[in-house]
Amino acid sequence: MLESTIAGSLPKPPWLAYPEQLWAPWRLEGAELATAKNDAVRLVVADQIEAGIDIITDGEQTRRHFVTSFIDGLAGVDFEHRTTVKIRQRYDAAVPRVVNDVSRTRPIYVEDARYLRTLTDRPLKFQLPGPMTMVDTLADEHYRDRETLAMAFAEILNDEARELVAAGIDIVQFDEPAFNVYMDEVASWGITALERAAANLDAKTAVHICYGYGITANIEWKHGLGGQWRQYESTFPLLAASSIDQVSLELANSHVPIELIGLLEGKDVMAGVIDVATDRVETPEEVASTIRRAMEYVPAERLFPCTNCGMVPLSSEVSRAKLAALGAGAAAVRAELAM
Ligand SMILES: [Zn+2]
Repeated sequence: MLESTIAGSLPKPPWLAYPEQLWAPWRLEGAELATAKNDAVRLVVADQIEAGIDIITDGEQTRRHFVTSFIDGLAGVDFEHRTTVKIRQRYDAAVPRVVNDVSRTRPIYVEDARYLRTLTDRPLKFQLPGPMTMVDTLADEHYRDRETLAMAFAEILNDEARELVAAGIDIVQFDEPAFNVYMDEVASWGITALERAAANLDAKTAVHICYGYGITANIEWKHGLGGQWRQYESTFPLLAASSIDQVSLELANSHVPIELIGLLEGKDVMAGVIDVATDRVETPEEVASTIRRAMEYVPAERLFPCTNCGMVPLSSEVSRAKLAALGAGAAAVRAELAM
């Protein structure tokens, strides 16, 4: 019980990519880059194990960005001639353009998953972007309909997810930060697209819904959300009725009313007990206290202490210290329960 895990990304070593930024360019290429990515994955797996994290990820060391690196592997998308769009209604980014029917012409992360499986016997989680968040991170000049494009991505994601599971992945997580922004679309087609992406997998399925990385545009957006963040209130009942096994939420330092966890009855809950929007490192006791609060709404067997979101924009030192606090805080509460 109280198996700890992280939402997804971890900082990359400075010899692999420029630290503390999103979309950081690689510093190597070709065979050197491939070797360096594997080296980085080995390091972050070792860091997680040393910190006592139970469910291991690759820290997204092999991708520049959680969405565009996946889209990069698809046909029908033009990466050369980008266009600027506003992502999640918050910040401008130069994104690829959908110019034809999208399809997956090769496995995208399957080799990475195979390699990750060789590094540890612990359960493995692998992150994929969710269909709605993919639609929201590019310019669609072909389908011109968000739902249709999302369903096309869902088919592709499902193909990839099946191969990840065959490669030894135990939990496939879909990242859907867009679920906290487009509330009407979540209800009308977002959940359906997510379920299609996660259909018939011989693994646990998870969805990560957050308030974003700790970057300026997100922090300013959060300031405008008021004293209570109730976005989950409309989404969680839909997810509780869905086929998805695990749902994440932000808890540490957030304005999410904790009782909203109660809307996820029957689901596994990945509760964010580490704030990724500050360099201040939580103490294990603070982590334990947040876990205990969550346990008022979800049994320990179904509670997975987690980070609020990815840690790629943080320094390696801060990230490692937060990992240690996460592992120690979860272990402290487990020890209490065993007494
Ligand atoms: Zn996130």
